Amino acid sequence: MDELLPEEIPAIRDSVRRFMESEVIPALDGYEERRELPRDLIMKAGAAGFYGSTFPESVGGTGLGYMAAVVILEEISRLDIRFAGCSNQQGGNCPACIYLGGTEEQIEKYVPDIIAGKSIGMMALTEAGSGSDAAGAMKTVAKRDGDVYRISGSKMWATLGDECDVGILLAKTDPEAGARGVTAFIVEPKKYPGFVAQPIPTQLSKAFRSSALYLDDFVVPVENRLGQEGEGFKIIMRALQGGRAVIGAKALGIAIGAYEDAVRYANERIVRGNPIGKFQLIQGQIADMAVAIEASRALVYKTAQYMDAGLATNRIASIAKLHASQTAKFCTDTAQQIFGGYGISTEYRVSRYKNYADLMFTGEGSANVQKVLIAEDALGYKLADRHHGKTGLRELGRSAAAE
Ligand SMILES: Cc1cc2nc3c(=O)[nH]c(=O)nc-3n(C[C@H](O)[C@H](O)[C@H](O)COP(=O)(O)OP(=O)(O)OC[C@H]3O[C@@H](n4cnc5c(N)ncnc54)[C@H](O)[C@@H]3O)c2cc1C
Repeated sequence: MDELLPEEIPAIRDSVRRFMESEVIPALDGYEERRELPRDLIMKAGAAGFYGSTFPESVGGTGLGYMAAVVILEEISRLDIRFAGCSNQQGGNCPACIYLGGTEEQIEKYVPDIIAGKSIGMMALTEAGSGSDAAGAMKTVAKRDGDVYRISGSKMWATLGDECDVGILLAKTDPEAGARGVTAFIVEPKKYPGFVAQPIPTQLSKAFRSSALYLDDFVVPVENRLGQEGEGFKIIMRALQGGRAVIGAKALGIAIGAYEDAVRYANERIVRGNPIGKFQLIQGQIADMAVAIEASRALVYKTAQYMDAGLATNRIASIAKLHASQTAKFCTDTAQQIFGGYGISTEYRVSRYKNYADLMFTGEGSANVQKVLIAEDALGYKLADRHHGKTGLRELGRSAAAE
């Protein structure tokens, strides 16, 4: 498919592969053992422009657009999904919220350092009682106190919450107003009191952790409010639209990584005197994986093309995210079967990839939530792209690059 892409894209894919093979893959197990975030590798990836594709050069991005972003994420995820654990924080939701909803001063102060990998980012929307119903069930509140806000409550699953230098945190300034009462803040947990992060044990990376956050009158200066009070949910939803295209790319990379491992293993593993790839039932499994991957790739790339063209993408991004995350689940499960008992051993990465496929299925809008959105659009109850062009927010991607 690379032959059909703009000519710079395959070259970007090659440079990601070289970086992953020479710098990341040899070092990452060491960081995992030490439970240490690889800040130096994140900075190198930032310096190479791997987090800046959807941001214009004026803020330190490359302006290459969403097609470059999805290809970069697909390639990182194919080669070692753990290293994609900071992609949303460095090149996705966190800087996108600031770029979409921030003032010129806020953008200049925060965005270039985040996408350069110099500042570690975070985005804290989810709470223990509010995942899919993020705004409706949100309990965290922010109260104005002179020239600061004081935020109290808790957040759940904030990836890199224990490491971040800067982050986006959503809290209610008007608890009675539902989604219209949600305000977004740029937070700096190392600078201000009242912020505690507690990493959550998971089967995923030990270096790129997600945390529960406990906020006790956590101080945020008024100048760090993003947009006006009540605009926070609009900003985060717009940023998550880009996030869905990108999470589809991660899921695609996981599926391809599992498929490639399965193909290699099927050629190597001898059973009854034959490589197992000679068995037609194994061939059927490999063919099913190949078909699912090509379909997901077409959807993820189409979403990126729509985003780069400034077209409405909510519906297509949901379809792509759903399909790619189903494909990741299917391919990691099938690859594990092809590996037999060894598929469960941590010696082979296919066991690890399966856990990440589950995350892609649930994170940033679960599979069921995507299905509801797609079906309500089909039935005419709620058109998925009804807000297109009405957000009043800056557009990301090529249109932004041309600014
Ligand atoms: C490792 C990890 C990292 C994460 N990182 C971040 C982060 O950095 N920042 C952040 O803010 N969040 C983060 N999240 C949170 C993630 O986005 C949520 O887990 C996700 O939105 C789902 O919310 P939930 O887990 O509360 O599930 P719930 O909302 O409780 O859903 C439970 C089940 O109900 C289903 N369901 C929900 N609504 C409907 C419906 N209308 N119809 C049918 N079924 C429905 C869901 O599909 C799911 O199967 C992370 C999560 C994980 C696991």
